Amino acid sequence: MSEESVRELESLAQTAAGCTACRLSENRTTVVFGDGDPLADLMFIGEGPGFNEDQQGLPFVGKSGNLLEQLLDEIGLHRADVYIANVVKCRPPNNRDPQQDEIEACKGYLRRQLELIQPKVVMTLGNFSTKLLLKTTTGITKLRGSAHPWWGRHLVPTFHPAAALRGGPRVLEQMREDFALAQGLLVAPPPSHPKAPAIAEDSIAEVEQLGLFR
Ligand code: SF4
Repeated sequence: MSEESVRELESLAQTAAGCTACRLSENRTTVVFGDGDPLADLMFIGEGPGFNEDQQGLPFVGKSGNLLEQLLDEIGLHRADVYIANVVKCRPPNNRDPQQDEIEACKGYLRRQLELIQPKVVMTLGNFSTKLLLKTTTGITKLRGSAHPWWGRHLVPTFHPAAALRGGPRVLEQMREDFALAQGLLVAPPPSHPKAPAIAEDSIAEVEQLGLFR
């Protein structure tokens, strides 16, 4: 990433800080644009800010953030080494799923974050961002455990840390496997196929409408 790209990312964050492009701006405390190294090879994408994130203006803080940092530590990385963002930058009321028009309004930020950061590996955290980015109705339980070619890079789906906090040791162990997979891919060549054909075939119109990268 060039210095120009770093500056553009900062400028984009400033633009987002005043964004009122969708109804999620009405009840937010803070826009949670993203956090971490703009040169990161590994980028995490979650669904949207929760209560603590909305209060602090940072993605994945609190217990979920602590677990994410623990899993990173186990593969020799720290939070400052990666970049963390969400599909939508403002907290949906009562932590509901973001709605289609909200995703549409916000997707330009995430798309530009990806274009500027150019991570080698993307890890989606949880069902929502995984299904959205892979344009599939298949759930996280089936999709995790493998890397999916995604726009010239590897996408590794894993559970949301909150699922591991609720789900116990088995979920946590599976997350460890996914983090180890991502760690290996950081030094692997990019996938030979730019997209994920098997996943794409699984797409349906409803999901296609939500596509970030058409
Ligand atoms: Fe803007 Fe995204 Fe927040 Fe909607 S969720 S107000 S599009 S920054």
